[in-house]
Amino acid sequence: MKLDLEISTLNPSLLGSPDTADSDVNAGEGEEAMVKNSRRFELLEKTIRRNAGKAIGDFNMIEDGDRIMVCLSGGADSYTMLDTLLYLKSVAPIKFDLVAVNLDQKQPGFPEQILPAYLEKLGVEYKIVEEDTYSIVKSKIAPGKTTCSLCSRLRRGILYRTAQELGATKIALGHHRDDILHTFMLNMFYGGTIKTMPPKLIADDGKNIVIRPLAYSKESDIKKYAKAMNYPIIPCNLCGTQPNLQRQAMREMTTQWEKHNPLWVKSMFTAMSNVKPSHMLDRELYDFSRFETRQSGEVQGDTLFDPPDSSETVQSVVKFI
Ligand code: SF4
Repeated sequence: MKLDLEISTLNPSLLGSPDTADSDVNAGEGEEAMVKNSRRFELLEKTIRRNAGKAIGDFNMIEDGDRIMVCLSGGADSYTMLDTLLYLKSVAPIKFDLVAVNLDQKQPGFPEQILPAYLEKLGVEYKIVEEDTYSIVKSKIAPGKTTCSLCSRLRRGILYRTAQELGATKIALGHHRDDILHTFMLNMFYGGTIKTMPPKLIADDGKNIVIRPLAYSKESDIKKYAKAMNYPIIPCNLCGTQPNLQRQAMREMTTQWEKHNPLWVKSMFTAMSNVKPSHMLDRELYDFSRFETRQSGEVQGDTLFDPPDSSETVQSVVKFI
C-alpha cells in the first residue's frame, strides 16, 4: 500500500498541487517573526506536510514495512524532514519505521552533544556514526582547493554502509525544491546535460534506495519553519570550506527571477516533470528516424508549443494560408 492513499483518506487537504497555500503562508511576511502555533505557522506546517505527502505519493517513496534511515545533519532541512516524517508516520495507515542517523565527521568544533540530546528528547531511534572524514579530506586535498566532492563521496559511502547495517530499506535525504532546481541549472550550465537530483533513485552502490520527501518544499518555507521551531541548528561551515560559489550563483539567479516574476521558478520546477522528448534534441530518448506523416486531417499547428486556448486562433489563421 502506498502512503499517499492513507494521507488522502485521513486528510484530503494534504493532496493537491505543491505550494498551493503559499500566499496564505507568506501573508504579512517580513512584518514579524513567525510564532510557533500561530495561524500562519499552522498554515506553513500544513503546506510542508502536504507537499511531503504529495511527493511521497507521486514517487511511491514509502511502502508498508519500510524502515527509513533519516539522515540528520543538524541543518534546518533535515530537522524539518524528520518532524514531517514523524507526523506522516503518526497518521499513515501503513506501518513504517524511522531511524535517524547523524554522521559525525570530526570537524573541529562539532557540537557532538546537540543531536543525541535532541533525539533522546524526541524519543526517536537514532545512531551517531563517527568517522573522521575531515582528516582524510584535509590530507588528500591541497589547501585552498574545494573539498566538498571528496567529502560528499566519503559521506555517501558511509551512509550507504550504515543503511545496510541498520537494515534500512530507504535512505531519506533533506534536499528540497530549490536544491533540485539549482542542481538542474548547474548540470545545464556546467555539465551540458539535463538532469537533477530525483525525488527517488537507486543509489550508485545498487543496494540502497534514496528518497527526498521534501522535493516539493521551498527552501524559504523550510527556513521559516525551522526558525519558528527553534531547532538547535549545527552550522555547516565547521570544515572551513568556502561555500560552493557556482551553487551560490544559481541561488542568486533564482532569487532575482522570483523577484521579477515568481511564476518563472515555479514553472521551471513544473517543467521538470513535464518533459516532451519529441521536442528536445536527445536522439536516445526519441527516435527521430522513424517519422510517419499523416495524409489526412486538419493542420493542427504545433500543439506542444501552442497553448490549447490559442488553437482556435491558429486554426482560423491556418485556413487563410
Ligand atoms: S562543506 Fe565541508 S562538510 Fe560539507 S561537504 Fe563540503 S567539505 Fe564536507
